[in-house]
Amino acid sequence: MSDVLLSVEGLTRRFDVSKPFLNRVFEREERQFLTAAADVDFEIRKGETFALVGESGSGKSTIAKMIVGLLEPSEGEIRFDGKVMDFASGAAMRALRRRFQMIFQDPFASLNPRWRVGDIIAEPIRTFGLMRGAAIGREVGRLLDLVGLSASDAEKFPHEFSGGQRQRIAIARALSSRPEFIVCDEPTSALDVSVQAQILNLMRDLQDEFGLTYLLISHDLSVVRHMSNRIGVLYLGRLVEVAEAKKLFLDPQHPYTRMLLDAVPDLALSGRRRVPVEGEIPNPINPPPGCAFHPRCPHVMDVCRRTIPDPRETDSGTAACHLLTGQPVKAAV
Ligand code: SF4
Repeated sequence: MSDVLLSVEGLTRRFDVSKPFLNRVFEREERQFLTAAADVDFEIRKGETFALVGESGSGKSTIAKMIVGLLEPSEGEIRFDGKVMDFASGAAMRALRRRFQMIFQDPFASLNPRWRVGDIIAEPIRTFGLMRGAAIGREVGRLLDLVGLSASDAEKFPHEFSGGQRQRIAIARALSSRPEFIVCDEPTSALDVSVQAQILNLMRDLQDEFGLTYLLISHDLSVVRHMSNRIGVLYLGRLVEVAEAKKLFLDPQHPYTRMLLDAVPDLALSGRRRVPVEGEIPNPINPPPGCAFHPRCPHVMDVCRRTIPDPRETDSGTAACHLLTGQPVKAAV
């Protein structure tokens, strides 16, 4: 039996960002498209945390939204537990939705301020018909206890809680449909640093207890290092490297990964000099030809300006760079 819970293949999402028709006619402009995710392939195994990292605008959140069914892909396929997600079938998507949930970045925005916490957490239980009557209240109390709050908090409203407590409520809500897979979109970036570690530790404890599988979306490499088994690095909508977390931090293969890691503070006090990330991510409506990283890459060659590099095998995954000499992934399949 395969241990892969989720796989994406050729996942692509384009947005039409054209001006209105009449403006285009008068200004003689073509329609314009923004490719937020391009030909993305990866797999997530049961029980692991797979992280997607990249600067803002790299396509992380677009990919997360496609995976949980909030956005339809323009091309490509998402498989959950061996079955292709059928966006056209409402019944098939509803059945899948119970099995995966999402925790959003901003716990202030993701909880309905007019609902009591008990109703917020009970909503998925009612929607999916998992329990009835008094059992729902008992389950809400159990979930609040599980995330470090108290059953009596069910009567309160979200504004009565701190940011960290609200994220605990969001986690309890995500757990209430008994999912197997949770997409965590920057789950701690809106929180104080002192609270971040508590929430990350809670997420890890819950993962161990319930065998959860996480897709973690983050721009923060210290969060990713603390949480993930494997990491995918995104640049302008394309995966440039996928590797086991330890190997990626020890020996990054792609120049962009190296640039991101060089910018992380030297917490081990090894004497390594911190180098800030240079340059800016280009406009995704008009990306550079060839390797999109070439305007910022210290190793750029002529071929990089013409040809998009294919992913190649590395020691612990894949990376897409013309400097690498491993087997091309697509030819090896
Ligand atoms: Fe740099 Fe070329 Fe590799 Fe792109 S393909 S990361 S430009 S060396």
